[in-house]
Amino acid sequence: MRLSAAGAVMDTIEIDPAGEREALVAPALVTLGPADAAVNGSGGPRALRATQRSDTTPTEPWTPGREFVGRVAEPPADRPDLAGARVVADPDRVCGACDRCRSGLSAHCTERATMGAPRADGALRERLALPATGLVPVPDELRDDDAALALPVARALHAAWVVHLEGRPYVTVLGAGAEAVIAAQVMARLNASVRIVTEHDATLAAADRLRVRHRRLERVGRRGDQDVIVCVDSGAESLAVACAMVRPRGKIVTLAPASGPVALAPIVEHEITIVGCRGVRLREAVGALARGEIACDGLITHRFPFHRADAAVRAAADPGTLRVAVEM
Ligand SMILES: [Zn+2]
Repeated sequence: MRLSAAGAVMDTIEIDPAGEREALVAPALVTLGPADAAVNGSGGPRALRATQRSDTTPTEPWTPGREFVGRVAEPPADRPDLAGARVVADPDRVCGACDRCRSGLSAHCTERATMGAPRADGALRERLALPATGLVPVPDELRDDDAALALPVARALHAAWVVHLEGRPYVTVLGAGAEAVIAAQVMARLNASVRIVTEHDATLAAADRLRVRHRRLERVGRRGDQDVIVCVDSGAESLAVACAMVRPRGKIVTLAPASGPVALAPIVEHEITIVGCRGVRLREAVGALARGEIACDGLITHRFPFHRADAAVRAAADPGTLRVAVEM
């Protein structure tokens, strides 16, 4: 399965041989959201630099898919314990050797590549070679449908940790998609008053089913009274709305890069702190899902077999979907 500016097409892909410390993993279920269907996705600092260097060169087609659950087909020699294990994976590949990796900032590795983005193929293929250190075993009681969504749970857990959410009375998750419904549940574990604010119908319906508090955007006053806003959408207008909703000296945590220029005046005027967030806490996410603390029922809105993965990618871009599952 390949995606490019020309669209999604099925294709035969050569399987990477596993490196010395890598496992060969067979994906079982891959979930796709709108970000996976975007043809301008970033593959990390290296891909970003390459894109900046050659703006006129079309990006080579790539294989989407960051969220998946699969089985280890061949473990590396030093990890026989992983043989046959059901696993989820950190989508970031890091070098382990640069200054940042050696100083404990490996999530910000200068050579980092994120799978499922240009120049780093993702999980929509029969086998993929992944570093054994990035694999997290999944307990038997966790269904594939829930395990595949460990990544958005892991991102929300990291965001809650970054912003020290405990003891902040009013928290709004601003934006749409499975990300919003999952982030609101993660934040609600730490805080009593958490709501989703969006105009996205499918998100409001899912929040309603899962008993997550929610309000339609047009019905919410912009009173500058929220302690924390968690932005899950990438639009610059989303950040402008967040600035109008957050209290003076409040915090905005943004989980997606702003796609346009951001007005700095309200940020200075009200001494707002903006925190960017992209890390994951995958092991904690698998634990929270296995304990039933995060409900994902109904977040997968469409299903496709692997031979129709091209149609699945197109469906993931549809505004009526939350997550599209591909059964491998
Ligand atoms: Zn590194």
